[in-house]
Amino acid sequence: MIIHPKVRGFLCTAAHPAGCEKDVEQQVEYVKSQGQVKCGPKKVLIIGASGGYGLASRISAAFGSGAATIGVFFEKPAAGKRTASAGWYKSAAFTRLADEAGLYAKNINGDAFSAELKRSTIDLIKKDLGQLDMVVYSLAAPGRQLADGTVARSTIKPIGEPFEGATIDFNSGEIRPISLAPASDEEIADTTKVMGGEDWELWINALLKAGVLADGCITTNYTYLGSEVTWPIYYNGTIGRAKEDLDRAASALSGPMATVNGKAYVAVMKGLMTQAASAIPGMAVYLSLLFKVMKEKGNHEGCIEQTTRLFDSQLFSEGELRLDDQGRIRMDDWELEDDIQDYIRAQWSEVTNENLDEITDFAGYREAFLQMHGFAFDGIDYDTDVDQNVSMDLVS
Ligand code: NAD
Repeated sequence: MIIHPKVRGFLCTAAHPAGCEKDVEQQVEYVKSQGQVKCGPKKVLIIGASGGYGLASRISAAFGSGAATIGVFFEKPAAGKRTASAGWYKSAAFTRLADEAGLYAKNINGDAFSAELKRSTIDLIKKDLGQLDMVVYSLAAPGRQLADGTVARSTIKPIGEPFEGATIDFNSGEIRPISLAPASDEEIADTTKVMGGEDWELWINALLKAGVLADGCITTNYTYLGSEVTWPIYYNGTIGRAKEDLDRAASALSGPMATVNGKAYVAVMKGLMTQAASAIPGMAVYLSLLFKVMKEKGNHEGCIEQTTRLFDSQLFSEGELRLDDQGRIRMDDWELEDDIQDYIRAQWSEVTNENLDEITDFAGYREAFLQMHGFAFDGIDYDTDVDQNVSMDLVS
């Protein structure tokens, strides 16, 4: 089938298998080019392993220190004329590359919030790996089915006051005003159920109880703080409130993790184009400005550069961790440099349809969106027939 992007709003409902494979190959090449991480992890579980920061963490662990990895994700295979999801193609590509490199890689596709999936993951760890030395929790989900069968939904809304901002239409490149009413208390609580730290605690406590975390094991969860211009919709909004709960969970996990001489860390990552980030109103303008100024300065990073630097210079380095006053690891250091933020603050209210390509890198932001789904890669002929059915071995 010939596959072109199908973009509606902030969603792209098609993915290209060859482009997704290329994306993973490029990430693997980047990690290999950085050399092996001394004392890197050897047996890693990644929850949310098929996109963005989770996939990049998996690649950094596997190809940066030869780790065996188990990836948990929620992705769809192709069905009829519908392509598979990008995360499906990328996980299949990762597994092939890991196999070729002689690295153990197994995948579990299903709802990571469920108790059944936690149990089957533990069974697999016991059977194949024995104990883990790292657990990466990198879920970004629109909803969570709770134990009583009800579903909590995550919403992206301001708290207390309405939000007036702008977004950029991926198709037309037009800037559109957006306004959002403040979240209700229930929406705030539900977003915290989905994106807060509770499920991370459930996972880690279940893994500890099963005895599958090795002495010195570490676990990470990713958060975003961002710049003051996005605080009204992010940091001070429903998602920011949910993310605050990660700090509570990290602290609640410190006692249980100490029983295996382990640690739980929240790592503050850079703002980037991922499936989850593309859904946040207002982020398009911010990230387009950020990409422009960081690329000009020469310190722009994607997910793979971020996770590789996290592993190499922080988690598995011999030096001291660079922690903030909340005990979080800061990987947003370059994003928050004064000259970067000065540029964004100065241009924030100046962006118009006319100067979009001049003062922002919307073109780069849009390209990152298309590449996330396997499109816009050089060297791939998107008018050639490809097989949309790509198989992947899954552990059920
Ligand atoms: P993403 O959308 O690229 O990936 C989310 C992953 O979660 C995918 O592997 C998906 O399959 C999986 N997933 C979703 N629902 C699931 C379910 N019910 N069961 C199993 N797997 C499920 O997201 P991302 O942007 O990489 O986000 C990962 C983490 O990084 C989040 O905590 C996010 O807040 C954080 N973060 C993101 C950014 C950013 O700019 N994108 C910045 C800092 C921190």
